Amino acid sequence: MISVNASIQSGAAAPQTEEYKIMVLLVDDQAMVGEAIRRALLNEKNIDFHFCSRAEEALAVAERTRPTVILQDLLMPGVDGMTLVRQYRASPVLGGIPIIVLSSKEDATVKRDAFAGGVNDYMVKLPDTIELVARIRYHSRAYINLLQRDAAYQALRESQQQLQKSNFELQRLTNTDGLTGIANRRYFDDYLEAEWKRARREKLELSLLLIDVDFFKLYNDTYGHVAGDEVLKQLAQELDSSSMRPADLAARFGGEEFVMILPRTDIDGAHMIGSKICSLLESRQVPHSRSTASQWLTVSIGAACLVPDDGQEIKELIEIADRRLYQAKQQGRNRVVWQDA
Ligand code: GH3
Ligand code: MG
Ligand code: MG
Repeated sequence: MISVNASIQSGAAAPQTEEYKIMVLLVDDQAMVGEAIRRALLNEKNIDFHFCSRAEEALAVAERTRPTVILQDLLMPGVDGMTLVRQYRASPVLGGIPIIVLSSKEDATVKRDAFAGGVNDYMVKLPDTIELVARIRYHSRAYINLLQRDAAYQALRESQQQLQKSNFELQRLTNTDGLTGIANRRYFDDYLEAEWKRARREKLELSLLLIDVDFFKLYNDTYGHVAGDEVLKQLAQELDSSSMRPADLAARFGGEEFVMILPRTDIDGAHMIGSKICSLLESRQVPHSRSTASQWLTVSIGAACLVPDDGQEIKELIEIADRRLYQAKQQGRNRVVWQDA
């Protein structure tokens, strides 16, 4: 038996069939036949033998011993051998095991019926040892190959699933901002482009909010960078959960700036959502002692809305929002500007 490590090191494929043990199950009511076959197989390398003399126990014994080949007597008291064959075939665990009929009859019609009933081979009792062993090895090898192929397919399926999972995870990481866990700039760019094209095609309104934390440099200077990071994480979660429609997207635009894409939303809707974000954040009452806009941490928001024209570029939408964000800062912060002054 080659060890697993050795076969990996040598780059070998699946182990050879000979390394697997052959298990023969003989089902025959005659103890004399059982003894003769046992002796015939006694000195055979890699062949184990099990004997079952009672037909009614055959299935349970087969399930326990998991033979690689079954030698099946045809005439047994109580049960017809072919009935047993049908029962093996119907079992989910035994269904594929090769069956060699051992019969006392050298009769072509009996052979024909046995093959038609699903057996793999037919030998007349008592068979010649050399031939019996050759057939046992042949059928067992075919069965073990089948099992190995199924196991290889299973392993292949599993590694494909694993790969797919890794790809999903990689994609998720590529599109996610490391600090806040929401969509990053890259994903935002792709998403905005897709929504921009859709809005242009369908002549629909597309709104954008540009959200910037007020006096964030002072916040960092006062409470430290770690506290600053924490604020950004919380704000990102608030934004993510305040996007109400499935098509809305909150993303980190960069630094302490965030952005929200609101497809099929007019400027009044964008204003409403922006105001909600402003009051929500202030109501969280995150102390900011050096802000002149409020005693709490606040944000300023620029809102823009366009029904994209054929000649228009995406950056116009961002520029409008950016200009209004600047106006919001000028007008005292902690507010949404949604019209040009
Ligand atoms: P304004 O109200 O005009 O927006 O003032 P501000 O201080 O917020 O704006 P400014 O652009 O001067 O400063 C932004 C600050 O945001 C500077 C930078 O240290 C901080 N910042 C950017 N990204 C991060 C981050 O990931 N974590 C932390 N803690 N701070 C960040
Ligand atoms: Mg800024
Ligand atoms: Mg700022």
